[in-house]
Amino acid sequence: MSVYCCDRMDYELNNKCEVHGTRADCPDALIAFADGIYGLFIHDGGSSFVEISYCPWCGSRLSTSSGSNASI
Ligand SMILES: [Zn+2]
Ligand SMILES: [Zn+2]
Repeated sequence: MSVYCCDRMDYELNNKCEVHGTRADCPDALIAFADGIYGLFIHDGGSSFVEISYCPWCGSRLSTSSGSNASI
């Protein structure tokens, strides 16, 4: 009953770090998801990320326009 494309993505986006307040601050967080857009975090001290269109693990196309029911 995962809402994401694969278990790895599901784990990534549901993983809550207890040390860092937000996922953007956590060096362990790889994937950003905001406003229906998926991205790879750039850990440069900010919360910027590079948008991606395909899952880096399973290669599925990541839907960015069919509405979203999930958020960070
Ligand atoms: Zn995937
Ligand atoms: Zn962390």
